[in-house]
Amino acid sequence: MFRTDLLKGKKALITGGGTGLGKSIGRRYMELGAELVICGRRKEVLEETAEELRKELGGKVSIFSCDVRDSAAIDTMMTEIWKTGPLDILVNNAAGNFIARAEKLSARAFDAVVNIVLHGAAYCTLAAGRRWIEAGHKGSVLSIVTTAAMTGSAFTMASAAAKAGVIAMTKSLAVEWGPKGVRLVAVAPGLFPTEGAWDRLYPAGSQVQAQELGVPARRYGQHIELANLCSYLVSDEAAYITGESVIIDGGRWMQYVGGPSNRAMQDWTDEQWDAMRK
Ligand code: NAP
Repeated sequence: MFRTDLLKGKKALITGGGTGLGKSIGRRYMELGAELVICGRRKEVLEETAEELRKELGGKVSIFSCDVRDSAAIDTMMTEIWKTGPLDILVNNAAGNFIARAEKLSARAFDAVVNIVLHGAAYCTLAAGRRWIEAGHKGSVLSIVTTAAMTGSAFTMASAAAKAGVIAMTKSLAVEWGPKGVRLVAVAPGLFPTEGAWDRLYPAGSQVQAQELGVPARRYGQHIELANLCSYLVSDEAAYITGESVIIDGGRWMQYVGGPSNRAMQDWTDEQWDAMRK
């Protein structure tokens, strides 16, 4: 759906780009001509992904083993990245999340999630933004959030709160850095199967009703659908969009807001509707 040179000449860093959605977004950026940089904590995973993408697409991929909770490590990574030219795109994608009853959550467990999701995104954004502003270089930041940031989410309170903070950061800096040529946007995916999210949020035996049935579109999202949206939003074609969060979830979050009766009515037969009318 895009010109194949949509992101040509752009250098993009994707945090947590070694796995899952970050990897799919990175693959699409490369297909569209971008030079890719990925970071995460596990070096072997990053090496494997970089090798796979290089073989598949023949482009340039660099890796950095970096924990986004560590602002000094991020600064060192950014300095290294900038040695071969400035970044153009930052994707805050790294995250941690797990299910727990809030009253059983330790301060440490809460910090673990907030430090990756909110602090990590803020440290990366500030490290890139500072450099862009100093050099008068245009840049865009895309943060992967979640619909739980808008609705809240029982049993994953820390993640919902941290992602809501990322949206507030996106809006704040869109205004503050707009005159300096830095754009910030967010994307809130619904259900996109990845090993990481499924292991943590829908473990076997958790008796969760088939999740895809809870989506008005009656299916999970495809990685390419998300990757295309993320490509458009960081491209120059989206230069007038900033501070915005785009939901891509097949209508799931509105159904939750509407309540369970909305969900049931989708499957009513004509007879049920007739009975209701009577
Ligand atoms: P995933 O494969 O588990 O991705 C998480 C990535 O973050 C991993 O590559 C992980 O690598 C990295 N990471 C975690 N902690 C880190 C840290 N401290 N420093 C650096 N990197 C770190 O899960 P995913 O489903 O693709 O999730 C990607 C993003 O989409 C997340 O922001 C998630 O909240 C969001 N999301 C996903 C869904 C979905 O349905 N999949 C729905 C809504 C939102 P290491 O462990 O090697 O560090």
